[in-house]
Amino acid sequence: MATDVQIGARRVISRNPATGEVLRELECASPAEVHAAVERARAAQPAWADLGVGRRLAVLREFQRRLHERKTEVARLITQEAGKPYVEALLTEVTVVLDAARFVIENAHGFLRDEPVPHGNLAMKAKRGMLVREPYGVIAIISPWNYPFSTPATETLAALAVGNAVVLKPSELTPLVGLELASLLHAAGVPEEVFQVVVGDGATGAAVLDANVDKVIFTGSVATGKRIAQAAAERLLPVLLELGGKDPMLVLEDADVDVASSAAVWGAFTNAGQACLSIERCYVHASLYEPFLKACVEKTKKLRVGNGLEEGVEFGPMIHERQLHIVERHVEDARAQGARILTGGTRLPEFGANFYAPTVIADVTPEMVLMREETFGPVLPVAAFQAEDEAVRLANDSEFGLAASVWTRDSGRGERVARRLVAGTVMVNDMISCFGISEAPHGGMKASGIGRTHGRIGLEEMVRVKYLDVDRMPGIKKVWWYGYGERFRKQMEGFVDMQFARGMGARLSGALRAAGVLRGGKR
Ligand code: NAD
Repeated sequence: MATDVQIGARRVISRNPATGEVLRELECASPAEVHAAVERARAAQPAWADLGVGRRLAVLREFQRRLHERKTEVARLITQEAGKPYVEALLTEVTVVLDAARFVIENAHGFLRDEPVPHGNLAMKAKRGMLVREPYGVIAIISPWNYPFSTPATETLAALAVGNAVVLKPSELTPLVGLELASLLHAAGVPEEVFQVVVGDGATGAAVLDANVDKVIFTGSVATGKRIAQAAAERLLPVLLELGGKDPMLVLEDADVDVASSAAVWGAFTNAGQACLSIERCYVHASLYEPFLKACVEKTKKLRVGNGLEEGVEFGPMIHERQLHIVERHVEDARAQGARILTGGTRLPEFGANFYAPTVIADVTPEMVLMREETFGPVLPVAAFQAEDEAVRLANDSEFGLAASVWTRDSGRGERVARRLVAGTVMVNDMISCFGISEAPHGGMKASGIGRTHGRIGLEEMVRVKYLDVDRMPGIKKVWWYGYGERFRKQMEGFVDMQFARGMGARLSGALRAAGVLRGGKR
């Protein structure tokens, strides 16, 4: 972050990416401050856990109420700091978090109830087993700038609901949104030590890993994710990694071109293409290829570009010069290798330094960097395919596996194709909206990550599972506590046969030997 973080002074600068205006400068937390924050969280966490799920959820309900009340201010702040149009900030950030709160409020009670584990093993029938879910203690959340509110907030709500304390390190590009989350939670009644924000850059994030946290939930790039996994391995620290994507969209020959092209345009250009679930590769059946491209170009040209705070703006700036460079490198490589740029392919300096035109590119091939690396910008690359098998092979030919989508009028066929795709989520006739389904687990396969956030599986990531077992006959010694003579051996052989031998006769004989009735069982 060379331009926005002054290393010597260790400050982060929050800027409006649409205008370049400095919103605020903040000091990075030092390693000592990070460690102190984690220790405060550790000291405060037991009392938060002891409150009980009912009282914790009452606090989160109050958070939900306050967030709803302040939805406009929060969405405007997100637009100011991250650049996405106000309506996107409202729908893909604020509303997602309101619904995530609804999910934990409805489900945390049941989730935390001890879960009986009935025993199938005959020798263990006199026992009662259960799963007990306990908070980890202090969970560190390290988050990116592209969904600066919904990413950390959904994870935080799950972590807090089950009784953890949280230390959040927001992206250096969007610290103000992280601080806004803190002020909403604190105003709702989450103790200040139980949810803390440490502002800073990558080095601050590294200090969080070095502190005494119990688990790390990381969302960001593959490169940083690998660094985090390595640091965590030293301490056997559990980590959850939500990393990048290169999501394919498969448009089958029976798809509705109008619907699929609108989806492709929104899926590639929402948040200026800076969504982990963006459409980054589009494969269209050859019979629809030209009409699909035509529709995409027409719809792309109509997008209203500008400052996301202005009414009607649909497409905003990219976050940072660094992201524009990546987009330019990918587009130029594609152009040099013969791809057709149908619209866009340039910066839009008339709107501001960080604007890049929404770009539709045809005739891309698998070896182009645009089809292999995460672009994370407003580019819709489209290629034609002839047969379903080829489309599936192309879609799966990627180091990533975050999400994918299949477009067809035949939902049965869509489901069959979806099952063949290697991705954490596959949607039939939709994309991206899975992030707004609070019940749906979110996460990737392959280089796209390890673990899942959201939904019941996301709650599962926030707890340690303890197996608790209670014997119902405390006055009786177990028969296998030594005494391994011949008689015991034969009884045990009978016991095993009784359960696992083939055929009723052999099982009955085993039962009689186990009971010591048959000769083989006598001393
Ligand atoms: P990034 O990896 O550069 O940074 C993410 C966070 O990690 C930031 O807070 C950063 O300060 C911190 N960080 C950097 N170096 C660190 C280190 N050595 N130790 C600890 N923390 C460190 O990612 P970004 O550019 O902010 O975000 C964009 C990436 O995030 C894209 O690849 C995108 O696909 C991915 N993403 C994934 C998901 C998902 O759910 N899978 C969601 C959003 C974004």
